[in-house]
Amino acid sequence: MNSRTAALLQQLARRPLLGDGATGTQLQAMGLAPGACGELWNTAQPDQVRRVHQLYLDAGSDLLTTNTFGGTSFVLETRGAAARRRELNLAGARLAREIASDRAWVLGDLGPFGGMLEPLGETLPEAVTTAFREQAEALLEGGADAILVETMSDPAEAVLAVQAAKDAGAELVLVTFTFQQTTVGYRTMMGTTPVAALAAVIEAGADIVGANCGTELSLAAYQQLTAELVAAAAGRSVIVQPNAGSPTLIEGKISYAESAGEFAAAVPGFLHAGARVVGGCCGSTPAHIAAMAALLKP
Ligand SMILES: [Zn+2]
Repeated sequence: MNSRTAALLQQLARRPLLGDGATGTQLQAMGLAPGACGELWNTAQPDQVRRVHQLYLDAGSDLLTTNTFGGTSFVLETRGAAARRRELNLAGARLAREIASDRAWVLGDLGPFGGMLEPLGETLPEAVTTAFREQAEALLEGGADAILVETMSDPAEAVLAVQAAKDAGAELVLVTFTFQQTTVGYRTMMGTTPVAALAAVIEAGADIVGANCGTELSLAAYQQLTAELVAAAAGRSVIVQPNAGSPTLIEGKISYAESAGEFAAAVPGFLHAGARVVGGCCGSTPAHIAAMAALLKP
């Protein structure tokens, strides 16, 4: 195993690791138009992307996530940028690697391809596998220490991403699903339970599993969900990266309800429930991560 990846696992065995917070909402705060393609900034505005990584590193993140959430050919195609997929992912990984240096590890970020697989949709699994593999290859080449497959709803898609990341040479793969609370418990948008979602990706070879983002999930609900994930993780380390409350529109600006203090106050509960990696998703900022670091890395 690559020595940096091995060191990540050694550190994880010693203490819980701290992820970073949102990238998209940070770039929007720096002028990226909502709905615009953030991955284009890996080459067009690299200093801004570096700045987001630097803010999280300074806040105490052990893990920096590349700005490549929408970096599959499928998503880039909707921006007319599919031909630039290798360049944008490679640049994204290099920017995070440059800032992380030897002070943090880099997670190469794979988000959903944005459609539905057969038979619910019309997309062939082979095409999705190819898209994920191309993306993972570029991220690893650019210096990612592990691949993070995130915001997954369909376990079949997550399995394709895990397999593609492994085929691309990833030695460590993290997978997080996004859950919502229903009358029958926590479910992904596809109706999948935490147990079934985690079982599918563990079978495919995922090393670290858990949840990110979430719809209308309070931090208290997230603690309960964490306990369910730990029970379902078959001994794998669990990662939780909640969003900072639900987005609300205040005077034309999207804002998130949970303060850095509220966010950090939930960390002991996550750790008590068994989480080994904690961070934030949409709406979480360097201030949220710094408040978490004060508790996690006193
Ligand atoms: Zn999110």
